[in-house]
Amino acid sequence: MLGRALAWTRPGRRDWHDGDERFARMTLVVLLGAPGAGKGTQAAVLRDRLGIPHIATGDLFRAAVRDATPVGLEARAYMDAGRLVPDGVTIRLLEERLGRPDAARGALLDGFPRTVVQAKALDAFLAGRGDRVAAALLIDVPAEDLVERLSGRWICRAAGHPYHLPMNPPRVPGVCDIDGSALIQRDDDKPETIRARLASQLADLNAVIEHYRSTGALRTVDGRQSIGEVSAGLLGAIEAIDAGAAGRA
Ligand SMILES: [Zn+2]
Repeated sequence: MLGRALAWTRPGRRDWHDGDERFARMTLVVLLGAPGAGKGTQAAVLRDRLGIPHIATGDLFRAAVRDATPVGLEARAYMDAGRLVPDGVTIRLLEERLGRPDAARGALLDGFPRTVVQAKALDAFLAGRGDRVAAALLIDVPAEDLVERLSGRWICRAAGHPYHLPMNPPRVPGVCDIDGSALIQRDDDKPETIRARLASQLADLNAVIEHYRSTGALRTVDGRQSIGEVSAGLLGAIEAIDAGAAGRA
């Protein structure tokens, strides 16, 4: 599978052209998953195995502001004013980023699209270049599993030393290893707070999932598996799409 996955990104498979044609055969993969689903970990694995850049929206904004590109300055004006960056500006930032040489063969999008409006804007942008999202990969974790993962954080009362149940428990339950003070949970980390926050985040995510189900781009991998198994599932899904594309060619 690794050989096939690497073959997919072999230089020369897609020609490099100047201008907009350079987008024509780019493979754009959208990574979807709720907070706590392990998206960051898997994005790093996919980036390394596929040799395509991982484009996280936060990094996109930070880089554009740092490099002071025209679109970056425009985005900065919104951020400085404490306003959301409009989707049109984000799409143009993305266009700038995808035009860079390292993204010539494809890119992995993380954190965008976050809403159906953004997903449709992305589709329209790609369609203008004769392209589309090649795959929307969902790392699927049931909501209650997410609550469990995200609500494991405890800190000690005396100094805030962090623990995580069950990942990094103290030696004695409920007591800090370092200073012996009691472990407490901040309101933000309590299951009921996390459950409420997730509900609104999952509503947007579920709408985006349905969008990609309707376009046929959605591929789902069970996020309750080990990190290695999830990676294998994601790479397998990309490989199947590439094989399908080659079969039609
Ligand atoms: Zn402590």
